[in-house]
Amino acid sequence: RLEIKSLVKSYQGRRVVDDVSLAVQPGQVTCLLGPSGCGKSTTLRMIAGIEMQDRGEIWADGKLLCDTVHRIPPEGRGIGLMFQDFALFPHLSVAQNVAFGLRGPRGVLRQQAEAQLEKVGMLAYADNYPHELSGGEQQRVALARALAPKPSIMLMDEPFSGLDNRLRDGIRDETLDLLKEAGAAVLLVTHEPAEAMRMADEIALMRDGKIVQRGAPYNVYNAPADKEAAAFFSDIN
Ligand code: ATP
Ligand code: MG
Repeated sequence: RLEIKSLVKSYQGRRVVDDVSLAVQPGQVTCLLGPSGCGKSTTLRMIAGIEMQDRGEIWADGKLLCDTVHRIPPEGRGIGLMFQDFALFPHLSVAQNVAFGLRGPRGVLRQQAEAQLEKVGMLAYADNYPHELSGGEQQRVALARALAPKPSIMLMDEPFSGLDNRLRDGIRDETLDLLKEAGAAVLLVTHEPAEAMRMADEIALMRDGKIVQRGAPYNVYNAPADKEAAAFFSDIN
């Protein structure tokens, strides 16, 4: 279970995350949805521990990860990350990429990496290098790498943005199945209403650093909180 309480972050005196609170239950996907620049990635970076909040608390499974006094470093947070710019390591094979965050004897790591690659349908590529894979295949490997340490919390920032439409729908559905199977609490950032409608158990609509509405996708879509929210959803096809 991920819980953030009253997170605040300013850059150069401008509040880009303004009192954001959220909770995500295990096995649930919450989509943080909003237009470019509204503060989504900044929120995720604070949860990951890459960025320090000015105020507020971050809790994972009942443990305080970070407030303004205590701070557990990113690698100690047990959080899986799949960010758009979190590319695979080019000098490591697919299997080595997936095993990267794991600790243990070499043979066991290989087995764990293979098991995870099998789940994303990439076992046949275990000894290939990232440049030998298509974008969609790299995405699958990145997902395998993020899930391999069995994180209880997954943060995903526009994870499907590099893919063409046809490929994207398939990978979204497969990813959702794997996330549900893993039982992680997932916070997924997107600026596309259609993606949130497809993947979310709950949508948190963000604008100008604030959560302006939360609810089941169907409810948020049918009863937007205000005109701006309605306009944002009207682009959906
Ligand atoms: P997008 O959908 O385009 O990725 P976003 O919702 O993820 O947008 P953020 O990346 O969180 O938006 O940025 C929110 C605001 O904070 C933007 O106006 C951005 O310019 C600003 N910002 C983000 N990081 C920094 C930084 N390190 N220094 C100064 N300003 C920043
Ligand atoms: Mg962003």
